[in-house]
Amino acid sequence: MSRLAVLGIAAGLALAAADCTPPPVVSAPPPSRPAPSVEAHASELAQRFVIVDGHIDVPYRLTQEPDAALDGSDNPAGDTLGDFSFRRARLGGLDAPFMSIYISAALQDTAGAAFAHANRLIDAVEAWTRRHPNRFEIARSPADVERIAAAGRVALPMGMENGAPIGSLDDLRHFFRRGIRYVSLTHGKTNALGDASYDSVRTWRGLSPLGRDVVREMNRLGILLDLSHVSDDAAFEILRLSRAPVIASHSSMQHFTPGWERNVSDSLARAIARNGGVVMINFGSSFLKTAYQGQQTQFQLRLNAALRQQGLSPKDAAAYTIYYAMRRLYPVGTVPDVADHIDYAVRLMGIDHVGLGSDFDGVTSLPAGLTDVSMYPNLIAELIRRGYTDADIEKICGGNALRVWREVERVATGG
Ligand SMILES: [Zn+2]
Repeated sequence: MSRLAVLGIAAGLALAAADCTPPPVVSAPPPSRPAPSVEAHASELAQRFVIVDGHIDVPYRLTQEPDAALDGSDNPAGDTLGDFSFRRARLGGLDAPFMSIYISAALQDTAGAAFAHANRLIDAVEAWTRRHPNRFEIARSPADVERIAAAGRVALPMGMENGAPIGSLDDLRHFFRRGIRYVSLTHGKTNALGDASYDSVRTWRGLSPLGRDVVREMNRLGILLDLSHVSDDAAFEILRLSRAPVIASHSSMQHFTPGWERNVSDSLARAIARNGGVVMINFGSSFLKTAYQGQQTQFQLRLNAALRQQGLSPKDAAAYTIYYAMRRLYPVGTVPDVADHIDYAVRLMGIDHVGLGSDFDGVTSLPAGLTDVSMYPNLIAELIRRGYTDADIEKICGGNALRVWREVERVATGG
């Protein structure tokens, strides 16, 4: 309220006290503070809303890189590797990144290898949270996410990317007990549970008999079914079987990459919306436009040349520094490209069925302005400019994903 308005009210009250006539009506003053800029508003929303990201590949990095790059080192100069650290998550307002327990398809044909590897990655996430209890905590429920976020820490729910470690329903129960809360049934190759979108081999024309049992048991336990990476046949079969809503943890809209099955087709998106689920949009350049897929190949060639020049193999620690530096130097795509996917998904499915699944630390290249977890406010600012309300943005940032997770819990408990 402006000083003039305060004076006007005071004068009116004084008059009323003197002669008992009603005080003059004081019209509402114009706002005395300028409206915050779009950027400031976006940053404020990023901090205020719970941001859930469907897919971040940190556990793999935990086995490769020094802890200092990830723990949100108090020395920001030491925090230059990768797309994620505690410090940058706080800057970007990220509250609950699903940690991807990623099993390479190369491990799925060796008995026991995928199972052992999944356990090692979960061990690594547990050890990490034990080392930094005031920064991270594993989240096993939406209630955990909200409690941990409210305390200013980063909640780490875990999702398994590739169901290859699951050879039986007992294995599935084992991973549920260890904290796994979603499973993408396949990764790059068709496996014992079902067919993969990237694979031309379609053994099952959808799911295997074990895959169907796993879907039912996931409903019973309260594990989210993730449609990212499975073939369309498998995805539609999961939708027919599941009694609970599903997610696509890190997939964008196929409309922008025609014929690329890894993204969600219009008909699959409509089916996910009917199921009550959520598509969490992938920020990776190759997911945004077909043309960017070629540019990503060029980036890979440029990177290989740089490593060769330095006499480095891609597995050397120094190679990571070069890789991440080059990724920031040569982004592919833009923030509006990602917003285009969100717009399209919202028009097709409605505001209640869209979320975020960046694939940070899991993709070769990212768009300018969205190259790490500090940058969610840039995307939120773009959504504000496009007319999304605060309530819309809250749903996209995490409200929808948490609603689906709560519903999965409700179905599991029979509530
Ligand atoms: Zn993936």
